[in-house]
Amino acid sequence: MSHRILMTPIELFMHFLWPVSCPVCGKMGNVLCRSCSDEMVQNSPLLCLVCGERIPCHLHYRRYPYVSGALHSGMVRELALSLKYQGKSGTGRIMGRSLGSVITMPFPQNRIVPVPLHRGSNRKYNQSRWLALGISDVWGVILSDHLKWRISEKQSLLGAEARRNMPEGAILWRGPNLKGQNCTLVDDVKTTGTTLLRGAEALYDAGAERVLSITWSRSINANERGDLPWS
Ligand SMILES: [Zn+2]
Ligand SMILES: [Zn+2]
Repeated sequence: MSHRILMTPIELFMHFLWPVSCPVCGKMGNVLCRSCSDEMVQNSPLLCLVCGERIPCHLHYRRYPYVSGALHSGMVRELALSLKYQGKSGTGRIMGRSLGSVITMPFPQNRIVPVPLHRGSNRKYNQSRWLALGISDVWGVILSDHLKWRISEKQSLLGAEARRNMPEGAILWRGPNLKGQNCTLVDDVKTTGTTLLRGAEALYDAGAERVLSITWSRSINANERGDLPWS
């Protein structure tokens, strides 16, 4: 990471045109301080995506472990929303690096896999991919962008209840065989957990050995933003 203090003339010029400041502490010159981002998140025990019990759970044992950096409220939520809706992609990688530093890799990993942006989305970038890149930077594990949505745009317009019943096979792996590999699936916010579950199933179908899910935050209100693929 660069520790330069002086800006190049171009950087200086850009800074005067579009000054940036950390949304947490207000410090100028950075879209988000790494230290502020680090303070938002913490490591916590792995929970089961399906039943919410501590891993290993009774029904699913170690199959669907997930961990979130923080509860989806306050500044944690603000950062997630600005990453998603305000085009602040630069903050995503910093947030991802915080996740990668704070969350201990519970078992060796071969790939970091972002939840894909839906085909119908009109957003310019996939916020989950930026988070995944940050984790990849810290863990030194390659990013693998091969998950794709299969469900139609029409289905993705359904309400929260229908989304909770997102059909099996809604997400597919379009990459190499994953036999014997461990993958980390990354999304911005966990709500019902169905998106992560479908993603994990796709990775297991492709041969993955173990799948860990990580999100920046977890919402206790399943309807707040939902797992709507393009929300
Ligand atoms: Zn700051
Ligand atoms: Zn379980």
